[in-house]
Amino acid sequence: MEQQKEIAKGHKIILMPSPFQGHITPLLQLATILHSKGFSITIVHTVFNSPNPSSYPHFTFHPLHGALSDTEASKVDAVHLTEVINVRCVQPLKECLTMLLDKEDDGVCCFVSDAALYFTQAVCVEFGIPRIVLRTGGASSFLVFASFPILREKGYFPVQESRMEEAVEDLPPLKVKDLPVFQSKEPEAFYKLVCRFIDECKKSSGIIWNTFEELESSALTKLRQDFSVPIYPIGPFHKYSLAGSNSTSLLTPDKTCISWLDKQEHKRVVYVSFGSIVAISEAEFLEIAWGLVNSNQPFLWAIRPGTIRGSEWLEPLPSGFLENLGERGYIVKWAPQEQVLKHPAVGAFWTHNGWNSTLESVCEGVPMICMPSFGDQKINAKYASDVWKVGVQLEGKLERGEIEKVIRKLMVGDEGNEIRENVMNLKEKANVCLKEGGSSYSFLDSLVSEILSLKS
Ligand code: UDP
Repeated sequence: MEQQKEIAKGHKIILMPSPFQGHITPLLQLATILHSKGFSITIVHTVFNSPNPSSYPHFTFHPLHGALSDTEASKVDAVHLTEVINVRCVQPLKECLTMLLDKEDDGVCCFVSDAALYFTQAVCVEFGIPRIVLRTGGASSFLVFASFPILREKGYFPVQESRMEEAVEDLPPLKVKDLPVFQSKEPEAFYKLVCRFIDECKKSSGIIWNTFEELESSALTKLRQDFSVPIYPIGPFHKYSLAGSNSTSLLTPDKTCISWLDKQEHKRVVYVSFGSIVAISEAEFLEIAWGLVNSNQPFLWAIRPGTIRGSEWLEPLPSGFLENLGERGYIVKWAPQEQVLKHPAVGAFWTHNGWNSTLESVCEGVPMICMPSFGDQKINAKYASDVWKVGVQLEGKLERGEIEKVIRKLMVGDEGNEIRENVMNLKEKANVCLKEGGSSYSFLDSLVSEILSLKS
């Protein structure tokens, strides 16, 4: 390892994140891991949702100016924004690479691109730089994405209301209702984006996953059969000693919630957060609020401004709600999530099952209440509840009585015991895979060797 580090010294890797919180965090964590292996790191990024260079003084940052403005970016959904980036960043990236390659005596080992930025494949070919892909989601959902053309051929797309409970052939345990959809005016745009990024992944020099072999072995085995490129499950990234230490947050975490957690009983608190993109209706918001209060469990709720459609923040709450809540609940705009999940007072995580949140919960041994919204979240939720058996799903129309029932089922009495035991077992596996001889440790070793061989 030390010898590898010596060899890697002075070798440069350029990385480009997709500009969303759930993508920026793992890419910067991966960059930190590669930096710890001796590589020097350059991050190329959009101006929109720019990472904060001052948190990473040891990296070089290059914004791609002129690709898209904040105002433009705020007007479209994540799928359309990704499409716009894939078109508008081509020229700025070429100019940036021309400048970088001109300056570099040693040259560049490889370009690590978020999978969604498929345009980088052709640019890398043009510049003669090997491209390695980072897929920030799980391997199980990727396998479903890779099956999109077959799913369409078999008539699963567009998803039909009447078939929701039907099992999806060849993709157990998924039912039609678990298939990834993206609610937008043009559902076809999501299908096209996914097919395109999968095709460009197949042309890359390798795919890195923020997952670990023991968690997703069956999907990883199948992907190794179907894809001819090397596959590196080297996660969980945030558990590497250095990778979790820098702030990757686009919003400022409210750390006052930690002092509130300090005052709560062991494993009693339900932590609630739906990540950085999901939006809910005012009616859903009120059902959640009353469900939490009626459950009689203490809760910490991170409500991102803009989460409730049509509202700035908490305006829809009935007057007196917050005053009556007292010490039973604590609400913040953005939580220091990793720290919260690690806290001994937290007994469950009510999550939208974004991949990062799912993995962070598994790594801290926190059982989940799963409420997926779109895209890969439904698959992650299905795996959490039915395969790993580390959570329960909240299904159907969001209703306060049902919420209260599910929270109590998990938190009170014996019903949650098996789930708690399963998630503690997975937490242990996540720890072991990073140690010398563990699966992620070994795959990282192979990845570093592969990157060094690309250079020569
Ligand atoms: N997160 C956070 N504070 C919050 C909510 C979320 O730090 O209040 C972080 C969380 O730890 C995770 C990321 O934001 O790393 C969300 O990524 P995820 O893939 O779970 O969901 P997305 O936001 O992409 O839907």
